[in-house]
This record gives sequence, C-alpha cells and structure tokens, in this order.
Amino acid sequence: MKSPAADICDERIWQDVVLLRMITEGPTRQGRRKMRAETDRPEALKELADGVWSIALELPDPYNPYSFCYVIQGDDELLLIDPGLDTEANWRTLVDSLGWLGLSVDQVGWVFSTHLHDDHRGMAHRMHEVSGAAVMGLGREIDALQSLAQAGWQHTPMDDWGIPEDDRQEIDRVLSFRPPLRPWPVDLRLNDGDRLPLAGRDLHAAWTPGHTPGHACVVDRSDRLLFTGDHVLPVIFPGLGLGGETDTSPIADYLTSLERVREFDGFSIAPGHEHHFTELAPRLDQLGKHHLRRARETSEVLREHPTATVYEVASQLSWTAGWENLRGFNLFSALNQARLHREFVLSGGLDIASNG
Ligand SMILES: [Zn+2]
Ligand SMILES: [Zn+2]
Repeated sequence: MKSPAADICDERIWQDVVLLRMITEGPTRQGRRKMRAETDRPEALKELADGVWSIALELPDPYNPYSFCYVIQGDDELLLIDPGLDTEANWRTLVDSLGWLGLSVDQVGWVFSTHLHDDHRGMAHRMHEVSGAAVMGLGREIDALQSLAQAGWQHTPMDDWGIPEDDRQEIDRVLSFRPPLRPWPVDLRLNDGDRLPLAGRDLHAAWTPGHTPGHACVVDRSDRLLFTGDHVLPVIFPGLGLGGETDTSPIADYLTSLERVREFDGFSIAPGHEHHFTELAPRLDQLGKHHLRRARETSEVLREHPTATVYEVASQLSWTAGWENLRGFNLFSALNQARLHREFVLSGGLDIASNG
C-alpha cells in the first residue's frame, strides 16, 4: 500500500516516541510480551501510544485508499475502533497485525464504530461472529442507519431541486445501482458522553453530528488521544449530511461539533483516514471556514436570484472538479451539499454563525 509522504513522516515520529518511551520508562506492554523484529512489522501497523495501535485497511478509492482501524488494549481484552471494509484482504491484515503484536482476534471483546459508513463498521459483524465481541455504536447512529436502510438514497427529496430531466434520469439510475446498506447488529447502544466498557482504559464517546446524524468521536484523556472518525480529517473536507435526512441542518450541527472537540487541542488526533496529526485547533478553523465560505457563496447567489433552485445554486458555486464535469453520484453529492447550504442560509444559520 502506498502512503502519502506525510504519513511516512508520521511513522518515523511514532517509532521515535516508542523508542524514547522504552529508554525512559522501560519496555511498553508490547515490549513485556515477546519483542518481534522491527523489520517484520506489517506495513499497515503503527503504535500511537502504549497499548494503542492503528492498522491501515484498504479501500477501493484512489483518492482515499485506506481507513484506520484502531486497536486498544485493556486489562484483559481488546477494543477495536472502526473495523474497516469487510474484505478478505483487510481481515488478513487485521489478523496478521494482531499476530505480530502477540495478540489475536479472540482477545477482541469490544468493537465501536464512529459512524454508519461501511469503511468504519464493515468487519464489526465478522469480528462478533469470530470472537464474540460486543458491537457498539451511538444509539442515534443506529437509528439513522435503520431509517436510511428503509428509505434508501433514492428517497432524498429531489423533486423540487430543478434538476433537468437528463441529469435526473442519470442520478436515479446511479442511485438505484448502489449496493443496499448492510445491517448493523448492535449489542450495546451508547449515548453521548458514555464510557466505553473496556476495563483498564478511560474512553468516552463524544457525539459529533454533521457528517452523519449520530457520528461519535472517542476521547482517551489519559493518553491524550482523540479518535475522530470522519468528523475531522487532516486534508479532505468531510462531506456532510451523509447519514440520511434529519430535522436539523447538518451544516449547523457540524459547526457546533467542530467546537465540541476544540477542548482537545493538544491531543494526538487519530482520524478515520489519511494520517495522524497533532495540530487540531488550526484544522478546526479551516474546516469551519470552508463551510462558512461555501454558505456565503450560496447566500450571494440567493441574493441575486432569490428563487434559485438547488440545481441553479449548485451551478453557480465553485467545485474542485468543475461544475460541468460532475456526473452521476458526484453530481448528486454536489447537489445535496448545495441543498444543505441553501437550507442553512435560508433558515438564518449563516447569520447566527457569522454573529456567534
Ligand atoms: Zn464516513
Ligand atoms: Zn470514512
């Protein structure tokens, strides 16, 4: 697997941290087990803190080629955060990485998914079947998945978006080909602020809606680690409103959720994709500004054309790929983002955010 330069750089830093800790504090938990040769370490595996590792699992997406599954060692069990896409290759990577650490899948007692997307909960069910691990998620996210599975993406209310007939037919066709959402048999529903039941660790779920309605980060205050799922990524701007219809604005929710995690500035950030990083506050600023800029752009279009449809608004916004190049699912996704920003502006969200 190819890693971006920043990732390789981070790996060196993490390995130095491990070495330093061994010199100053003696062997880590890993060291107390049988130390393995560094050269055999699976490329996907990194140590983030004592008894905390990340495993990169592959995704079939050239722009976002892997997701991180985090392994956390408790007193007598392991917890996985975000077991990646359910493929044979990913399962093998997971088993091999645990094996290299002197651990095994049988020790996995808990699995927590930050949100409903398949790259974050894919292997949860398989892990449950193999090791009997209890599968966990935030109750709100479990409900969101159920609604989404019943309604499907096709149920997004597109009729009044002003989409030309040809484009609409193409979008309908693309959406009907999307695979159905996989079920998520959950053993334990958590609420905002709940402690994750892994003995020997102090981990808490923090509700951070926006990307999806029940997205949760995981806070590890003792190791000063924040597992951010798809809420905060170091490079990509995460898409919003990707967990079905909600009563609230995903844009407003997301802006609030960015502030929700600001108190963890100074923590090491363990995101769902890309690479680990440490500068949280500047990244929160960038993410918030990105959506406010987009909302202001939308607001200007609406000031000129107060009756502009979603399609007309979207065609006036700037898109990285260029508006005329957006087709199929990408066109749907762009229209949906424009719809969310249009609703955010019309409901006064931008005024509140600008004055807040
Ligand atoms: Zn996601
Ligand atoms: Zn993701």
